[in-house]
Amino acid sequence: MDSKDIKLIIDGKRLDGRGFEDLRPIKMRVGVLKRADGSCYLEMGKNKVVAAVFGPREVHPRHLADPIKAVVRYRYNMAPFSVEERKRPGPDRRSVEISKVSREAIEAIVMKELFPRSGIDIFVEVLQADAGSRTACLNAASVALVDAGVPMKGMISSVAVAKVDDVLVLDPMKEEDNYGQADIPFAFFIRNDRIESIALLQMDGRVSKEEFVQALEMAKRGAMKIYEMQKEAIKTKYIMESEGEVNEIE
Ligand code: ADP
Repeated sequence: MDSKDIKLIIDGKRLDGRGFEDLRPIKMRVGVLKRADGSCYLEMGKNKVVAAVFGPREVHPRHLADPIKAVVRYRYNMAPFSVEERKRPGPDRRSVEISKVSREAIEAIVMKELFPRSGIDIFVEVLQADAGSRTACLNAASVALVDAGVPMKGMISSVAVAKVDDVLVLDPMKEEDNYGQADIPFAFFIRNDRIESIALLQMDGRVSKEEFVQALEMAKRGAMKIYEMQKEAIKTKYIMESEGEVNEIE
């Protein structure tokens, strides 16, 4: 179907009833996996993802080890049942690209120089996708790294902005991603409760320079809200732990 045939904004509201700058509902649960050093299950709208962190640990194969800093690896993977039409299992061009840009974003916050010759492995699995899965995964991965106790300079909080029906909207869902005019995923490096820099920026489609500036400001406000939720989820885990409870999914 042609994107012009679909109305994405009706009476000033989006198809799911959200205002232009509303995030989808977000849920996080920290420490859900027993075998990982750190983990986080996260829902962002209909996206459902889980992140598992291992390390710092010995690197395999050994020749990949770096004598002056830790090697960070990030694997984004979509389950075959995560999308409407079954996705062929295994890596593809898209997942290799997402893994690369996400790793670069995460590398901005990990204190790699503290762990020479070691590896930090981050696996993110998309169980259900509904646009913005790379942003959901980065939010989960960042929390899982904290859960693993990996020393970090700050957090990564990530959200996309889309242009649909000539307006900018925060955290686009599938219909807005598919039929919109542009999709701009952002990730920010947040240190001491302030946005320090952009850790990931991609763009699909076209926007004007003014729209881009507006999109950036909108994404920053959205990311700060996500950041507060990330901190809250981590605190909840520590409180539960101190009371002898486990946060694993039964
Ligand atoms: P993101 O999930 O980060 O927004 P894309 O913009 O590439 O990444 O994808 C948007 C959405 O399109 C995904 O969240 C998913 O719902 C859907 N999608 C992506 N890849 C596939 C695929 N191979 N088969 C079916 N749907 C897909």
